[in-house]
Amino acid sequence: MQIPTGELAAAAAISGDSISSIHGSVRFFPCPEGVMVLADIFGLPEANPTGIFALHIHSGGDCSGTNFADSGMHYDPANMPHPRHAGDLPPLLSCHGHALMGVLTCRFTIDEIIGRTVIIHSQPDDFTSQPAGNAGEKIACGVIRPMPMNQC
Ligand SMILES: [Zn+2]
Repeated sequence: MQIPTGELAAAAAISGDSISSIHGSVRFFPCPEGVMVLADIFGLPEANPTGIFALHIHSGGDCSGTNFADSGMHYDPANMPHPRHAGDLPPLLSCHGHALMGVLTCRFTIDEIIGRTVIIHSQPDDFTSQPAGNAGEKIACGVIRPMPMNQC
């Protein structure tokens, strides 16, 4: 895989709800084959015994509302079933509250996701249930914003 070029990248600063300490970033880098996603998240709750937390891009552009309701549903411009939504991603794996995850996806471009949201859920994604993988509540959120590559 080639090193990302000088094109515009994007990032979401992730924050939990008022009773959690979740924080971190999800960054998006343009690559010739697609978009490289790098999630670096801290403060994931121990209450989930699997340590696996569903991660998706949601269509809404706002983290407000009860339990981040304004983030909307999974980003799905092609009207596909879960887990074939463009915004469906592999889950986070927590090590004592810290998760570091990188993946290449060719399901969207950087331009298509700027202004949308990244959501972390309280439970694993079962990659089967509709409409969203039975992944529990939304526990953290961040709006995806443009980021010059020199800020990586
Ligand atoms: Zn989905």
